Amino acid sequence: MTDLDQRSYFFDEGIRFECRRCGDCCTGDPGIVRVNEREIECIAAYLGTPISAVVETFIYSWEDGHSIKEASDGRCLFFEDGCRIYPARPTQCRTFPFWFANLRSEARWKKIRHQCPGIGTGHLYSKADILAILSRSSDRRP
Ligand code: SF4
Repeated sequence: MTDLDQRSYFFDEGIRFECRRCGDCCTGDPGIVRVNEREIECIAAYLGTPISAVVETFIYSWEDGHSIKEASDGRCLFFEDGCRIYPARPTQCRTFPFWFANLRSEARWKKIRHQCPGIGTGHLYSKADILAILSRSSDRRP
């Protein structure tokens, strides 16, 4: 058991979540969606498109890595009437809403609850599940 496991959190009893595929977290305000080279390869394989074409159309360099481009209205460029790459989506998307930025305080979590209709429904993620997701989440910024 680690120090993090022993601490008490507002999610000690777990959190229910099931993605409704509503797209609210993929549209609207601009944001960074980090994607690494392995994930870009997975996306290209899923789309049946050369990696170079995926990079040219959908990816840009950001800090020391890459991010997915957005349309002029702020939506993720892979979002068109739903996520075009859902089975191959990157870790940042897979681990939403269990991001450090969202879980660092109950006040922040309450805010995100209002933005994501999947929270409070479906599968019950235990504290251990959530800490495991946090440990592999690519968004660990406050
Ligand atoms: S806002 Fe929540 S329910 Fe809607 S697509 Fe994003 S994660 Fe799924």
